[in-house]
Amino acid sequence: MNLKIAIIGSGPSAFYTAQSLLKINADYEIDIIEKLFSPYGLIRYGVAPDHQSTKNVSRVFERVLNNTNVEFFGGVEINESPTIDEVMEIYDAVVIASGMAKDKKLNISEENKTGYFGATQFVNWYNGHPEYQNLKPNFNTDSAIIIGNGNVAIDCARILVRTINELEDTDITKTAMNSLKKSSIKNVYIIGRRGPLDAKFTTVEIREMGELSDCDSILSKGTIDNIDKKLMNDDMEKQYRILTSFNEEKPINSKKSKTVEFKFHLSPKEFIGAEKISGLKFINNLNPDEELEVIDAGIVISAIGYQGDKLVGVKSDESGKIIHKDNIIKDRLYTAGWAARGPSGVIGTNKHDGSKVAKHIENNVNSKNSPGRIALKSLLELKNKRYISKEEWLKIDQAEVKRASKGSPRLKFTSHSEVFNFLDNIKPVRK
Ligand code: NAP
Repeated sequence: MNLKIAIIGSGPSAFYTAQSLLKINADYEIDIIEKLFSPYGLIRYGVAPDHQSTKNVSRVFERVLNNTNVEFFGGVEINESPTIDEVMEIYDAVVIASGMAKDKKLNISEENKTGYFGATQFVNWYNGHPEYQNLKPNFNTDSAIIIGNGNVAIDCARILVRTINELEDTDITKTAMNSLKKSSIKNVYIIGRRGPLDAKFTTVEIREMGELSDCDSILSKGTIDNIDKKLMNDDMEKQYRILTSFNEEKPINSKKSKTVEFKFHLSPKEFIGAEKISGLKFINNLNPDEELEVIDAGIVISAIGYQGDKLVGVKSDESGKIIHKDNIIKDRLYTAGWAARGPSGVIGTNKHDGSKVAKHIENNVNSKNSPGRIALKSLLELKNKRYISKEEWLKIDQAEVKRASKGSPRLKFTSHSEVFNFLDNIKPVRK
């Protein structure tokens, strides 16, 4: 049976779903609809540029995209116009795999001060996401604070303390590189509201913090004394071994110019500084009645997790997670990845979601001779929306690789207008 299926979003969960669908039936016609001009979501804009080997999974997704039954509709946001309902009308089945793109709120006073930003803003900025290119972080400060004890916090810290040489062979944007070249940051504080054994860092990521070429990672004084070893499970023991390999003070003879300090049991309470941040006050969660602890810093990044955007016509909870049962939203409408599960798990975690949704579609969806792709093209034309086709994306992809400087994998386009200019200046490729 030849079903016409639309997948909204083009990150790992979208591609794993498409891959599973094609394994079930190579004749399924699959359209991947993405609001940005480029596919691959978090692989392109989330994974840190100094983790190029993680980005290599996009080769698997490229093979899926290259399948003749798969088409890409870039630059098309499905929400208000076209709506999910409009897409449902023209396809046999629709999968929402749109992820979670916004920062969870810290909910302390005046989060809009200069020098404060959420990790999604910061990460998207250095990775060239078109919606975050006017962030303009100013690194003319001695110290930065990162709130949160997950891998995103570690990514942000690493980018701040890497040497320019270490970043040169990556796909970090030129703008980010130029700003980091001028950085005066010497100290980065990574703050956990709970203890070191409750941290959500994975062991590979935390180990890497002990191997930086120009930065020492240290544990705040007294951290080890406060750890109750009796409560440790195997994962915690691994974490404990790595963390306790860090010194409690910067070695006196260290030749490294920067320091990352891990501090625990602190919750942010209040920014210091009028318009521009000069520090942050914290409650000590082990002794909440104690005086607030002050850390001076000109930059504060909160890396405390993500939340989803509301989609018209689809119910979600307060975190933006879509309401569903076993990935089924309703008849012919499914969800996968962070949109369904919330912001957790590594890239491979999405494989399971993808194959589950594909099986639901195989077992429960009958063809209703939906027009699919042809009707989507007409709908977009009717709404006067220009989209980026697969062929056009492949041109963009090749151009990004070609214009990169030696050693760097690609120089990304960072705005839709830049992409449209580029496409308008080459031979038309759309059929
Ligand atoms: P995360 O792993 O859920 O970590 C969020 C951190 O923020 C936790 O330490 C949490 O503390 C803290 N937090 C939450 N609300 C807070 C608040 N109001 N005040 C202070 N702290 C607060 O989220 P993430 O770092 O955004 O990562 C998302 C997912 O992507 C994770 O599964 C992660 O492993 C994955 N990822 C993987 C990689 C990689 O493999 N290299 C890189 C980046 C991201 P509590 O524990 O106390 O709630």
